[in-house]
Amino acid sequence: MNRFNLKKETLAIHSGYEEKDSQKTMAVPIYQTTAYQFNGLEHAGDLFALKEFGNIYTRLNNPTTEIFEKRIAKLENGSGAVATSSGMSAITFSVLNLVEAGDNIIASSKLYGGTVTLFSHTLKRYGIEVRFFDLENPNSIKNLIDSKTKVIFFETLSNPSIDVADIEAIVEIANEFKIVTIADNTVATPFLCNPINYGVDVVIHSASKYIGGQGLALGGVIIERENIIDKIGNNPHYPQFNKPDVSYHGLVYQDMKNPFTLRARLLFLRDFGSAISPFNSWLLIQGLETLALRIKRHSDSASVIARFLEYHPQIKAVNYPKLHNSKNYQLAEKYLKHGASGLLSFEVDSYQKAMKIVNNVKIFSLVANIGDSKSLITHPASTTHQQLSSQELLSCGISEGLIRLSIGLESPEDLIEDLEFALKHL
Ligand code: PLP
Repeated sequence: MNRFNLKKETLAIHSGYEEKDSQKTMAVPIYQTTAYQFNGLEHAGDLFALKEFGNIYTRLNNPTTEIFEKRIAKLENGSGAVATSSGMSAITFSVLNLVEAGDNIIASSKLYGGTVTLFSHTLKRYGIEVRFFDLENPNSIKNLIDSKTKVIFFETLSNPSIDVADIEAIVEIANEFKIVTIADNTVATPFLCNPINYGVDVVIHSASKYIGGQGLALGGVIIERENIIDKIGNNPHYPQFNKPDVSYHGLVYQDMKNPFTLRARLLFLRDFGSAISPFNSWLLIQGLETLALRIKRHSDSASVIARFLEYHPQIKAVNYPKLHNSKNYQLAEKYLKHGASGLLSFEVDSYQKAMKIVNNVKIFSLVANIGDSKSLITHPASTTHQQLSSQELLSCGISEGLIRLSIGLESPEDLIEDLEFALKHL
């Protein structure tokens, strides 16, 4: 299959699974196992010493998970990937791969609530400072950089404010200072945006959302740009990649293929765990097979619903980047040519009204999740972003009257009728 220049729709269904890996099963098998037999002590020693790559223990690798990793790496135009048990562990490991106590990272102020608490509170306890920049003004990053800055982190399409990052502007600054960029591409998915095409070094996903697509399984994944070594190799800023690792018999990661994801696997999966289960990898593989079709439908329906809400008298503002008067419209036209995914948010003028809408809808379910085939409604200030201070809520763009919708795969006419009823009964 390598002889063709395959499109993403084909790669999502075929890549990473070789006939030689299987009993010729059409479906990818689930290798539900904890460990693997070695051929003998010499073989075991070679695997542990990385003289030969192979299966050792499912905390480190698993054949079903490997197919998921190869497939998502292809879809994101990356060279390698490592799967984790959740999106949060993918974010944590990708950041920890680049920092040590005393370092700092620069992150967008518009982020998923769990990422904000990780960055503002948890990392701080381990000596890692996080400085937040204004996503609408990427130039503000420059004033935050110092000699200890190791990462610039942002979401390509932010949850729940639905802002679009100016990826090229962020990458340009990062490249000037040789700092690694990490983009959370969960909401956009590889079918709407490939951050690596704009020079991003590391992409992460919460695969629990659109990749899985039916709210069935938690998972995360880290993907690296093919030539990431041009940034981290021989760079004294990132000694962990160019000095021998004493915890792995002096391995120098920059000498290896896919050094970023290899180090995340060998250190963080080995020491912190958070490995994905083979069954979840299998479910996520099923999700990838239909992602191209689903994300188009999510995007088209969200667009129709955003246009309905835009002119409703009870609604103060609608955030959806494909609306012509959205402040994100130009960026969406540039980075999200084929659609802006299924998330949108809107604002009513009080908490009481927001509560009534949430209670009055029938098809939308009140759930703290996104990217499901079922439509979901959330009030971020009291759920996903509850642990944020009022200042943090403000900088994430979350008011008391903000409601987030994750538009599912139902008929958009039915969803509009549901919202119309709820808004009529305020
Ligand atoms: N990134 C984004 C944009 C998210 O919306 C979420 C969860 O909602 C996460 C990361 C965390 O993912 P997980 O729930 O798989 O840990």
